Amino acid sequence: MKNTKYIFITGGVTSSLGKGIISSSLAKLLQERGYSVTIQKLDPYINIDPGTLNPYEHGECYVTNDGAETDLDLGHYERFTGITTSQANNVTTGRIYQSVIDKERKGDYLGKTVQIIPHITDEIKRRIKLLGKENYDFVLTEIGGTVGDIESYPYIEAIRQLKWELENRIVVIHLTLVPYLSASKELKTKPTQHSVKLMLESGVQPDIIVLRSEHPLTFAVREKVAKFCNVSMNAVIESVDVSTIYEVPLLMQKEKLDEVVLNKFNLKVKDVPSLKKWRSIVDKIKHAEKTLKIALVGKYVELPDAYKSINEAIIHAGAHLNYKPEIHFIHSEKLDKDNAEEKLSLFDGVLVAPGFGHRGIEGKIDAINFVRENNIPFLGICLGLQCAVIEFARNVLNLKDANSTEMHQNTPFPVIDLMEEQKSVINLGGTMRLGAYDCVLSKESKLYKEYGKTEIKERHRHRYEFNNEFLKDFEDAGMKATGINPDSDLVEIFEIPDHKWFTGVQFHPEYKSTVLKPHPVFISFLKACKNK
Ligand code: GLN
Repeated sequence: MKNTKYIFITGGVTSSLGKGIISSSLAKLLQERGYSVTIQKLDPYINIDPGTLNPYEHGECYVTNDGAETDLDLGHYERFTGITTSQANNVTTGRIYQSVIDKERKGDYLGKTVQIIPHITDEIKRRIKLLGKENYDFVLTEIGGTVGDIESYPYIEAIRQLKWELENRIVVIHLTLVPYLSASKELKTKPTQHSVKLMLESGVQPDIIVLRSEHPLTFAVREKVAKFCNVSMNAVIESVDVSTIYEVPLLMQKEKLDEVVLNKFNLKVKDVPSLKKWRSIVDKIKHAEKTLKIALVGKYVELPDAYKSINEAIIHAGAHLNYKPEIHFIHSEKLDKDNAEEKLSLFDGVLVAPGFGHRGIEGKIDAINFVRENNIPFLGICLGLQCAVIEFARNVLNLKDANSTEMHQNTPFPVIDLMEEQKSVINLGGTMRLGAYDCVLSKESKLYKEYGKTEIKERHRHRYEFNNEFLKDFEDAGMKATGINPDSDLVEIFEIPDHKWFTGVQFHPEYKSTVLKPHPVFISFLKACKNK
């Protein structure tokens, strides 16, 4: 077994500092030096997972191959490093308590009072070390939330205990904000000093401090942080704002974050990796001259994080084709038959987003009607595919009031219906069709050209499906099922061959797109947009 080393990333001063991006960047840099890594997120909220959370609360819910509904940071981990995450990579306080309470009911603690220390902290430590058993060189653990939050205490306490148990096999990185006061033109370090003090009160001295800032740090600022926060000068790392998150690994390399980490573990620091491929992609993301205008039709337009993975998948495919995609969010509730042309005709392609519930669905259907009739490239994902099916049923097959039973239980034409095994489901958490399923792709499909194979596996997150009773009518009228699940015969992909590019996928291709491996569905879609 390897002598796995553990790196913790905590956050101070404020939330949304980009701990996930720093963790992913460090993981990428360690990988480039030949180490095997994995990243895990510990979320201090009580929900078992974010599957039941509204995107307004926590942005997109990311789905892993093994069907875990997880925090969107896992998406960054996979996109930056190409690693595959699983349920073990995202643990919430809810899950920790559930395990402890289950054990208590089984009698595992018979006679003992069950307490936060040691029982909850033991369970936190067990979940952290579980990943170490898989023989990684490094396990990076990002602690959600901000130091000082009541919910975070057990996690910081677990780190404190691990510092003793694992001795020189653990490094703690603390990420904080250095605000800039424009009136006095000064960068302020006081919030960082207080944040580190809070960590110290819990018995944890950070080894490295990463400072997020709008402006480059002066020598004096670095010196001050080093002095007041008990770290050496080279362990004060600057993370200044950049135009693309994919530049962060390059910045962290310049700041030598990976080298400082390796030094802390007494590991040899060899030559600096060139990151050649990565650099060239970042260069294209920043400087591609030709643009593509993509409309993303959804109901969470005020909140781009709700469509994080889709957004990133479009960026990856754009860079691959040397185009700069401009993504415009179009509110589905503000779209209708009368304004669809005005709102959509200038775009090179239209993507209709996934979603749940009735709100905004008619706008999505009207958008699809416009792009179908006007030969504008269209990609529908999950609910987007379901809306394309409803649109086609109503306007081509003349099945008036066709709908999904999710939106209209007694529709006369349930073209999208609850899967048989879903009919008896009562609990809402973790009970959808989740994770990777096989799909057999037809050689005639447009997607086949990009996938280059007929057997594919994509991730799902839905309860409803195309109703195969209508399949023949759809195919006869020109909408073809080009991807089928071989075990259940469920339709996973619909295409209209006579259209320039009209594709709906029941799965979520966006979850599998990475920086170095953009996804075939998005490449195929953008190629069509290019030729509009
Ligand atoms: N609400 C739809 C279903 O449950 C689609 C879900 C989605 O878009 N992820 O089937």
